[in-house]
Amino acid sequence: MSEGGTTATHAAHAADRDALLTLLAASSNDGLSPAEAKRRLATYGDNRLPSPPRDPTWRRFLRQFADPLVLTLLVAAAIAVMLGLTATDGGSFFSRYADASAILLIVILNAALGFYQQQRAEQALDALQQLSTPNARVTRGGKTIEVAAWQLVPGDLLLLQAGDAVAADARLIDTIELATEESALTGESVPSSKDAMAYVHPNAPLGDRQTMVYAGTVVVRGKGRALVTDTGAHTELGRIGAMMAQIGHKQTPLEQRLESFGKLVLRVCIALSVVLMVWGLLRPTLLGGPAQPWHTLLLDAVALAVAAIPEGLPAITTITLALGTQRMAKRGAIIRKLPAVETLGAATIVCSDKTGTLTKNEMTVREVYTFGAHYQVTGQGYAPKGEIVDDDGQALSPQQYAPALKHTLATAALCNDARLELDAQSGHYQVVGDPTEGALLTLAAKAGFVQQQVRTQHHPLREIPFDSNRKRMTLLARDAQGHIVAHTKGSVDVLLPRCSHYEIDHGRMPFDDASRARVVAQAEQMSNKALRVLAVCRREQVDTDSDADTIETELTFLGLVAMMDPPRAGVAAAVRTCAQAGIRAVMITGDHPATATAIAQEIGMWSAGDRTMTGTELAQLNDQQLDAQVMKLRVFARTTAAQKLRIVRAFQQRGHVVAMTGDGVNDAPALRTSDIGIAMGQMGTDVARQAADLVLADDDFTTIVAAVREGRAIYRNIQKFIFFLLSANMGLVVAVFTVSFFGTWPPLTPLMVLWINLVTNGLPALALGIDPPDSRLMQQPPRPSNESLMVFRDYLGILYVGGVMGLAAVALFLLSDGDDSSMLHTRALVFSVLALSPLLHALSCRSPILSIMRAKPLISVPLLVAMSISAAIHLVAVLVPALQPVFHTYSPSLREWLWVLGLAAVILPAVEFAKWLNRLRMNALGMGPPASSAGPSSRGR
Ligand code: ADP
Ligand code: MG
Repeated sequence: MSEGGTTATHAAHAADRDALLTLLAASSNDGLSPAEAKRRLATYGDNRLPSPPRDPTWRRFLRQFADPLVLTLLVAAAIAVMLGLTATDGGSFFSRYADASAILLIVILNAALGFYQQQRAEQALDALQQLSTPNARVTRGGKTIEVAAWQLVPGDLLLLQAGDAVAADARLIDTIELATEESALTGESVPSSKDAMAYVHPNAPLGDRQTMVYAGTVVVRGKGRALVTDTGAHTELGRIGAMMAQIGHKQTPLEQRLESFGKLVLRVCIALSVVLMVWGLLRPTLLGGPAQPWHTLLLDAVALAVAAIPEGLPAITTITLALGTQRMAKRGAIIRKLPAVETLGAATIVCSDKTGTLTKNEMTVREVYTFGAHYQVTGQGYAPKGEIVDDDGQALSPQQYAPALKHTLATAALCNDARLELDAQSGHYQVVGDPTEGALLTLAAKAGFVQQQVRTQHHPLREIPFDSNRKRMTLLARDAQGHIVAHTKGSVDVLLPRCSHYEIDHGRMPFDDASRARVVAQAEQMSNKALRVLAVCRREQVDTDSDADTIETELTFLGLVAMMDPPRAGVAAAVRTCAQAGIRAVMITGDHPATATAIAQEIGMWSAGDRTMTGTELAQLNDQQLDAQVMKLRVFARTTAAQKLRIVRAFQQRGHVVAMTGDGVNDAPALRTSDIGIAMGQMGTDVARQAADLVLADDDFTTIVAAVREGRAIYRNIQKFIFFLLSANMGLVVAVFTVSFFGTWPPLTPLMVLWINLVTNGLPALALGIDPPDSRLMQQPPRPSNESLMVFRDYLGILYVGGVMGLAAVALFLLSDGDDSSMLHTRALVFSVLALSPLLHALSCRSPILSIMRAKPLISVPLLVAMSISAAIHLVAVLVPALQPVFHTYSPSLREWLWVLGLAAVILPAVEFAKWLNRLRMNALGMGPPASSAGPSSRGR
């Protein structure tokens, strides 16, 4: 470190630990004081990497013009200027250049609107990114607290455990089996083990610095404490010039499809325009009649092109997605990867963890068993108030405890990393750490075994940490006699085979088959009651330095502890919603099969024919065998992280779109492989969160279901406004083409077409993008994942709507009496019909099948507001005298208004009729009664 960097911590990896502590003026116990941390934050700055520079605003604004449509329009404006220059009929300067200036104005307005929408979308995504910034655990002023990672300062005492993303460069103070994955820095993906005590040469390369952890790496196992040496841009990561990873706006599959669709439309437009021009040039020779000057023909062609291109489409899609993610975030579902919004709506399988997602993760020990004795435990929550009651209903005092019970309780308190805290405000006890361990602390405290006191008699020496593959944890401690004892707790099926003896009264007995079976039966009984059961064991006289596997054998069984973890509120309802929505909810847990099955039944997840499979059974199946029965499996118990991956693949093999939750370090591959990886915002690890598409702020299963619902709604809304824009455009195309083709009526000006396309149609399309979701959305099956955005019926619908809308407008010419000025007046009325008709049509676009009257909710507030504003804007173009020459409009009479409104409204009954026919057809095909669902079978809308 040089140039006035954060600290003088050059070669911290080789520095002496205590010297470093002095240098950073930090205490290895209490950390920095909060005031000092604040001061240092001001001195050293936020612990953030510089974000990539953004393009300046003006450049982003100009980029709006780099668009084929805008260029077409600029050409149109140039032609209009030429027409103004060559005009022979005189007129004011203003009326000569009205068209050109209006087109330019609209181009600029369009760019401004596009720019605004893009800003809006970016802000939404930025806000989203803020929500998923990581935290770090530090000790400050003697207290362990969580702070946002950007608040770390040099000298902070950082606590690390498996699954954490390291947020700053730090020198390790102490380590337990710590290893980190440093591929972000070294490219090496094999975990490097860390040791606070190791000797490291001052010139050691980064990958060999065992005494350091670095920002941008993750802890894959073990735990440790470290002293922060460098933050922000001064970290190794900052120095290699890494930028903060932006969620950024990569195009989603949907947007890509839309873009290629847009290109197709553009080509069709150009072709049509060319046809129109050629026809215009040939017509006088073929049919006689006056020849049109080429620039008039060109302008007609441009009007047609403008009519056909759905200019609003990409912008409205982006903003609909962005606003959708904001709504999801409010509900607790934070999207990390934008395509997930789309995929969510197509999910057919939701695989969920049990503990904490389906259940509250508020554990309370209900029963304790030691060999031959059975106890109930009273009390609520984590408060150490309650009693241990024997089978006769007698509350026991600590003097009455049998030795096995005492040992069980002591080990429960010792082999434990959690802490109970009394929240001063609410007066409730809370767990800091794993709730399973919190419940054990509470149990022990109820019996008078307070952790601090127990730890004075049993001095902790070494810990072999819990992970969900090992399913056990051991603490080595020296007792009052100086013996080193291993205190172990973990799942019954893992520990029991490792027990050679069981404790009874004042001694221990070797296990035989019968006594073993007795314990197993007891555990089974507890599990069937949906209790989570842990075995507690110990082993005397062990060698501290042996490896984990050696220590955790020949254990003495002490007891079983059974805890209750009630289902979360609303989970049963959410599970039911899944069933109605054609989504299969599946449980994957590390817990015991009986416990898991009992919970599944309790929350209504279980249905006839369902089965539970354990990880051991799963391991014996090959992929074909798993594939054959995977759809019958409802609960996967005692699984490992690697098996989660197999399960995802098996479902995907059958064509399913799989959402999968995960919280551990090892879950990352499964999260990445699943179609929607879901991580926990509270209990999960940073590693899982980084791999996920979606993070649940509240860890709650019901939030997943809410997100799926939102995903479906967003997709449906995108379909709605695409149909709306394309069918309304088709109306314009039909009108412009018909008029220009026959050449006897005055053609619509490009400005008129532009006005409708960009101004009056834009708002209803946006409103459809935020249309309130159909209340029956979750009563339909998921949309097939390979379904295209529009089906044949939609294309047919677009042609039909276009035909009706365009011809109804053009029909006005037939009513006109034929002289030139009356023709121009009629054209102004046609303009109004074409502007107002789509506004009414937008109402029909809320469902491709159901009558307007059956929409649920019946009224879409955003749509009504948009319709009113658009209509008002159109009236401005028609009625404001200054604009009348620009738009070639005039104030119609009441009779003319009635004609306009009548013809504009023709589209409503016309579409209702078509929908009715379609429903008849579907009924005839037996595609289900459309009245009871918002859509037909597989189309799902
Ligand atoms: P889940 O979160 O799905 O319940 P875990 O992987 O967390 O599964 O736990 C698997 C098993 O490991 C549990 O059923 C329990 O028996 C055991 N276990 C859970 N937490 C601990 C812990 N802190 N210490 C020891 N064993 C534990
Ligand atoms: Mg767990």
